[in-house]
Amino acid sequence: FTPEKIRNFSIIAHIDHGKSTLADRILEMTGNIKKLEKNDQHQVLDTLAVERERGITVLAQTASIITKYQNDDYLLNLIDTPGHVDFSYQVNRSLRACQGAVLLVDATSSIQAQTLSNLQKARDANLKIIPVINKVDLDSANIEKTYEDLVLQLDFDEDEILKISAKTGLNCDKLIERIITDIEYPKGDPEAAARAFLFNADYIGDRGVKCMIQMIDGEIDLARDRSIHSFHKSKKYDMFEVGVVTPELAPTGILKTGQVGYFLSNMKSIKDAHIGDTFYLTGSRDSINPFPGYEPPQCMVYSGIYPESAEEYEACEKAIQSLLLTDGSISFQYENSAALGGGFRLGFLGMLHLDIFRQRIKDEHGIEVIITHPSVNYKCHLRNGEMIEVDNPNESPDAAMIDYWEEAICDTTIMVPREYLEAIGYLGLPYYQEFLEEQIICKYKIPLAEMIGTFFDQLKSSTSGYASVEYKVIGYEPCELSKVVFHLNGEPVDALSFLVYTNKAREFSLYYARKLKDILPPQQFAVAIQAKIGGKVICRETIRALRKDVTAKLYGGDNTRRTKLLDKQKKGKKLMRQLGKINVNSDVFFKLLKR
Ligand code: GDP
Ligand code: MG
Repeated sequence: FTPEKIRNFSIIAHIDHGKSTLADRILEMTGNIKKLEKNDQHQVLDTLAVERERGITVLAQTASIITKYQNDDYLLNLIDTPGHVDFSYQVNRSLRACQGAVLLVDATSSIQAQTLSNLQKARDANLKIIPVINKVDLDSANIEKTYEDLVLQLDFDEDEILKISAKTGLNCDKLIERIITDIEYPKGDPEAAARAFLFNADYIGDRGVKCMIQMIDGEIDLARDRSIHSFHKSKKYDMFEVGVVTPELAPTGILKTGQVGYFLSNMKSIKDAHIGDTFYLTGSRDSINPFPGYEPPQCMVYSGIYPESAEEYEACEKAIQSLLLTDGSISFQYENSAALGGGFRLGFLGMLHLDIFRQRIKDEHGIEVIITHPSVNYKCHLRNGEMIEVDNPNESPDAAMIDYWEEAICDTTIMVPREYLEAIGYLGLPYYQEFLEEQIICKYKIPLAEMIGTFFDQLKSSTSGYASVEYKVIGYEPCELSKVVFHLNGEPVDALSFLVYTNKAREFSLYYARKLKDILPPQQFAVAIQAKIGGKVICRETIRALRKDVTAKLYGGDNTRRTKLLDKQKKGKKLMRQLGKINVNSDVFFKLLKR
């Protein structure tokens, strides 16, 4: 295929607007997969089990399709992008491998927050955009209104909007034609030195890391080219396979200018596949013009991860390591907790990412883990002028050393139907507001720490699920924090320490102490629950001892036996108290950490 016969495009949409369904339909119509059976929920581009369960696309996947148009064969490269806010940086990177995008809008709900944000990204990347109304087969579809929204709010021309059903296939053939006629072909130089842009990577087991690239200039011919260099990472790899994805791997041995495909090499760690990096074959590094705009993914949420029991430590570590192989955006460190033993501290892109991790480690490795209260990353400015980053309350410096704290602030865009405007009043006044036909866009500056709490759940319930959200960290602002440490019978429990806003510390401590009281199983001895800030008790609860009535079955005057039994019980109590620990199984932790 010459570049003129290649089209590289993405489908962008708000979650649930039908992106995966459309991708499946396009693959099916071009004969790449056999016709899906009715009611088959399986979607070929969503490969991970969790993705199917949650109906979201986590890792961008790509498929190359060959189709005929006016007697010519065309190579269409479809790049599937993820649909959740936690993964929006992946949308950015995959869009950079495209020249066009299909903007999919659900006719039953019209424009939503991610419709707007993804459209913005696509316009920023200078892509040709084909506006498409989906789900027109549904009775509840409001096609006229969606049509009007696209014209009036997003400035599309009336005659460029397509109406399709990704489910029944209606007009999907027209869409494929439009992809060919409207989207420009990739304008690289076939004669120039080979240069490729890495837009995604997957760990695929024994064969290492599958690097997904777009050939910007030149070509890779495996018969001639064996080694490949990464520009930013500055490493050299030996390739042993090159090809396209359908989405199964189809080795071709060659990738030409403008094409999208993969290479396999001796690259073993996904951390070496820097998304956005430029790869080249020959010549000195200085002669290479790297692709601009690389941004590393940023972890937003940190949690300690612990096996349920110490015996499972190794299995747990193995499982985490194998998940890390497939997900380069999770950060990893070892951690030790007096209460929970050996464990790990992982960083995630957001709460959904953390949830997916928890589910994957369970589904794919059969391991239940204890996940400690998630924390964001704070900047701690010390009196001596130094600044350290703290994402773990237990690593927070002594209060006397701290000058001030700073926390991440998110620019948060919420879109709701007008009738819910009052329902989101608890968020305060937005700094920006825009009224659309029936929706309203509100922008707020909200601390990241609040976004990872009950924010999403609360918003969802107060708007009956109609609100959609986009957020992005835009900077840091000073805040006042206190470290609250819970003590059980006088002993600090490091797994129960938290960095909270100083003015909310008392409220939080009371709430949490009661929760502890409700959840902790009663013991043979009384348990004092204390919340302390810097050694000062700010609240306290007591769980009464559970006194087993060991003498209940005894009657009559055999006092010696009675005394013996009571003695024995006392000893037991003492032993437990000396251990100073109460037995909490992971169930308790799950309940404690559940919001
Ligand atoms: P994604 O989150 O954008 O990938 O959305 P999905 O492709 O997973 O679709 C979300 C839901 O909408 C699924 O239950 C689909 O079966 C359904 N859906 C998608 N397209 C259509 C369509 O054209 N008509 C109807 N009736 N349902 C559709
Ligand atoms: Mg999907």
